[in-house]
Amino acid sequence: MLEFNKKLEDIKTYEAGKPIELVVREFGIEPKDIIKLASNENPYGCSPKVQDAVKKILSNMSLYPDDSMTKLKDALSKRFEVGKKNIIIGSGSDQVIEFLMHAKANSNSKILINSITFAMYEIYAKHVGAQIIRTASQKHNLEEFYTLYKQENPDIIFLCTPNNPTGDAIDAMDLFDFLDKIDKNTLVVVDGAYMEYAEAKDASKKIDPKIIVQKYKNVIYLGTFSKAYGLGGMRVGYGIADEKIIKELYKLRPPFNVTTLSLEAASVALEDEEFVNKSISLNFDEMNRYEEFALEQKIDIISSYTNFVTLVLNDTLDSSKISDALLKKGMIVRNLKGYSLNAIRVTVGTNKQNSKFFERFKELI
Ligand SMILES: *Cc1c(COP(=O)(O)O)cnc(C)c1O
Repeated sequence: MLEFNKKLEDIKTYEAGKPIELVVREFGIEPKDIIKLASNENPYGCSPKVQDAVKKILSNMSLYPDDSMTKLKDALSKRFEVGKKNIIIGSGSDQVIEFLMHAKANSNSKILINSITFAMYEIYAKHVGAQIIRTASQKHNLEEFYTLYKQENPDIIFLCTPNNPTGDAIDAMDLFDFLDKIDKNTLVVVDGAYMEYAEAKDASKKIDPKIIVQKYKNVIYLGTFSKAYGLGGMRVGYGIADEKIIKELYKLRPPFNVTTLSLEAASVALEDEEFVNKSISLNFDEMNRYEEFALEQKIDIISSYTNFVTLVLNDTLDSSKISDALLKKGMIVRNLKGYSLNAIRVTVGTNKQNSKFFERFKELI
């Protein structure tokens, strides 16, 4: 019998938001009638400048990408006021998380994460056989993190702010106070996948990667182009940290891990601040409609610092049944049963998409 690495035995495959293609195949619904509010993608697409720029380089596909990634690193370095040596670029920030796990953890390691958080931390931890320690609180509670840190001496602590899938965010001051107390041999990962939204909503939530680089040798900040920048399909994310951390991560990076088209798309997207700001402002306008809807329907809502909301259902509604029924109507949302929450996570879409969601949801309850 073909036996595999024992570490894989208790890993559940990551369940991505269902793609539109699957709903077309399974339910025979026309693609134009399907609305995907499941993966926190930008419903307004990406900057139109990106498409023009990418079209221009389409003839350049036979050559490997520029592996120094100079153009994108220059752009990130300018944006965040950090050196190019403080930056690593991954095929999504997911890939940087994978590098971090292999760089710091092994089967004797402990990884400290929030009770409910981004599923990939646990999956990558299991790749290396590390043990997962979770807080009890639903929101990030840094006092609890600190107590567990003292008790368990973890190799890596993941802080996801704003957090996926609950949308809560940590105050920058609290975060830096926490980091001040952590021993330099514990790696702290600050995952800011939705930071563009959080800092626009409330400046006190803004975690500045430059401060992390200046003050902490054991902390890395992660960002991505998949959310506010609308480039989920391009797979580009980045880590910003002290040079020594970046140097170790580079040992794990496969060559050409980001494609020519993706590098170009991200470089151009980063410059179009107007597009991103517009997306963010529309996002929070539309989030208000979800709050009103929840109030009207007497559903608990966790409004958030991100581009999604979580609707917490009461005992008469089951989140698995609701999300399946929505799916049959061509509406893809995220069931949070897997996180032990009777809730659905809905990406805030365009005005039209959200109206459709309200309509479909009302038909079910
Ligand atoms: C979406 C997301 C990421 C990473 O996305 P990539 O597409 O791999 O860059 C990382 N962390 C959180 C919390 C996310 O929601």
